[in-house]
Amino acid sequence: MMNSNLQSHSKIFKIALLGNPNSGKTAIFNLLTKLRHKVSNYPGVTVEQKMGIVKLNNGRLAELLDLPGTYSLTPESLDEKIVAEEVTKWVHGIHRPDAIISVVDASNLSRNLYLTTQLTDLGIPVVMALNMMDLVKSGTVDHHQLSEKLGIHAAIPMSAKEKWGVNHLLDGLWKVLESPPPDCSFMIPLNIPAIVSTTLEPLTSIFKENFQYSPRLAVAQALRVITRNSALELYRKIIQTLPGLDDNLFEKLIDTRGEIIGQIESLNYSHRILEATLRYAMIDDMVKSIQPDNEKILKQVTRSEKADRILTHKWLGPAIFISIMYIIFHSVFTLATIPMDWIDESIHKIGDIILRTMGPGMLRDLLVDGVFGGVGAILVFLPQILILVFFLSMLEDSGYMARVAFLLDRFMTKVGLHGRSALPLISGYACAIPGIMASRTIDSWKERLITILILPLMSCSARLPVYSLLIGAFIPAKLLFGFISLQGFTLVTMYILGTVVAFILAWIFSKFIPIQGKSSFVMEMPPYRIPIMGSVFHQVFTRAKLFLKNAGQIILAISIVLWFIASFPSSPNSVNGNHVEDSYAGKIGKIIEPVIKPLGFDWKIGIGLVTSFAAREVMVSTLATLYSVDNGENSIVHLSSSLVKDINIHTGKQRYDVLFALSLMVFYVFAAQCMATFAIVKVETNSWKWPIFMICYMSMLAYGASFLVYQGGRLLGF
Ligand code: GDP
Ligand code: MG
Repeated sequence: MMNSNLQSHSKIFKIALLGNPNSGKTAIFNLLTKLRHKVSNYPGVTVEQKMGIVKLNNGRLAELLDLPGTYSLTPESLDEKIVAEEVTKWVHGIHRPDAIISVVDASNLSRNLYLTTQLTDLGIPVVMALNMMDLVKSGTVDHHQLSEKLGIHAAIPMSAKEKWGVNHLLDGLWKVLESPPPDCSFMIPLNIPAIVSTTLEPLTSIFKENFQYSPRLAVAQALRVITRNSALELYRKIIQTLPGLDDNLFEKLIDTRGEIIGQIESLNYSHRILEATLRYAMIDDMVKSIQPDNEKILKQVTRSEKADRILTHKWLGPAIFISIMYIIFHSVFTLATIPMDWIDESIHKIGDIILRTMGPGMLRDLLVDGVFGGVGAILVFLPQILILVFFLSMLEDSGYMARVAFLLDRFMTKVGLHGRSALPLISGYACAIPGIMASRTIDSWKERLITILILPLMSCSARLPVYSLLIGAFIPAKLLFGFISLQGFTLVTMYILGTVVAFILAWIFSKFIPIQGKSSFVMEMPPYRIPIMGSVFHQVFTRAKLFLKNAGQIILAISIVLWFIASFPSSPNSVNGNHVEDSYAGKIGKIIEPVIKPLGFDWKIGIGLVTSFAAREVMVSTLATLYSVDNGENSIVHLSSSLVKDINIHTGKQRYDVLFALSLMVFYVFAAQCMATFAIVKVETNSWKWPIFMICYMSMLAYGASFLVYQGGRLLGF
């Protein structure tokens, strides 16, 4: 007795969180687990499985599994397949959760209830989180009636945005966990016409006899299997894993399905939409009875609609989009200068303090030149990266990105991409890796692959330090036509260059990659929402952490190694100020130099190109270390002025000029220099073929483009 009590107390409950994309699943997950992560206003941004721990109202702990957003349990896109596979396992007793939270967007009931009715079939207790109640007029959704009609255990009105209702949700959860209610999949039948259920009978009984399904689940699964072959395919695996089943069971399912499809069609139903037709009929009845005046439930739909008339207008839409992007990149350059100066000054001050307090020697040189010179040079760019990520997260969370996808769909389709490629590609401006992950929302493999292939050409934030350094040093701070900053314009040009070439390549790739299933553009337009600032800042914070971790580990390590190979062997004629040229690093650079000379690069840049294979921004810290070591005066150098003042003693001329800067920037637009990106591509495409292909085409492109810029510029007399 005592023992079993203890056991039931130590049992960790398992709860699964399911809901349509954009219903607020992630926001609720964050509230329940108090663990922050990405909240986004775009269908299907949560593509991975996430796990968290929830503290129930009586102090007990439960595991909460966050599944990808899905409209139904019928596997169509990759996300839906993940969910459908997982749910199929539950039905057969594998990882079966103790309860399901079905997250529903109350401002869009009918569509959201589709999934909820499917979840109710499973026989697992369902608690509905009736989210976004802040958007509907009070009194328009009767949650008591709703849960009664659905046959679920509770529907709990809440708002993840205004953070109310969460405690009620926890109460509701605890109630079903503590005393599991009777399985309603036995009690409330799926409400479909008798003629259809009679026709389905042969399949229904196979499910009942072999898998011991409840009557309702058997009908539901029969419907789904008739509707989609992909639903039938899920059984292939399950039949293999479950013991004691008839060897020919899967063949039997295929045959029975074929026969029933014929009969269904002769009843004048289209079998491909059978499940949707019947379920929506059921849901419409239900919604009408609890919400007779469906149109008037929303508080602010007109505002979103009005905004959309302008923001998705044929001409105004794209013009506004381009202006927004311009403003973002412009502010990245201007707004960031204040904190950048501040960081720069602090680093120099700390360096000076070390110089004054430590006795001269190798350790001091290493600290000042290697660590502070190298890592410091890169830290300066943190504000720019954070501002960029901040703006992109705001756009995403406000619902604007979905409009961008809509605006760009026609264009995207023309170049072999998909409207849904827009978000992954735009996130690529922050970092290619989340972009590649987000491409999972694209159903068709071909369009997804092309999106991945061109994604690293979207100038990511790691390139910003390189652009900024070169632009700050070599592009005059003048105004074009009196109002466009030449520096900002150059920066934007680099972004546009990468983007335009990416689209051209997409079009070329699309001619060579065979099609496997075409996808259509079905995407809801979520209403515009004021972003939840906490989650925007969380994203900014995550990016900052990542950047600092990079600076702290990779860049620090490279800076230290570099300092050694740049300082030794110490040359006797270092008085000339060019002892780095004779060091090991110099020798390595000199080996590379002939290859990159036609691009206008010398051995110093050569060293930077090698080190920045790890990550692009390492170029900046590499140059900083090289100049710090070279600078006999033992102080942290000012990198951009060092670049400008660098004189080639062999020619007596300035080593670097504007043309060089442009050539190097263009090289960075295209070069394949981020190992982490290619590792992710390997995982996502499940082969080495594509990452290797990307490294090859990007390297060739980088070399060719730089060559054109430098040699072309020289021919033109620059
Ligand atoms: P998911 O796709 O289901 O994970 O949805 P998210 O949690 O990413 O939320 C989608 C969008 O809805 C985000 O912009 C959230 O800020 C917003 N959101 C989430 N919950 C609420 C809510 O209760 N009320 C309102 N007005 N907005 C919400
Ligand atoms: Mg989410």
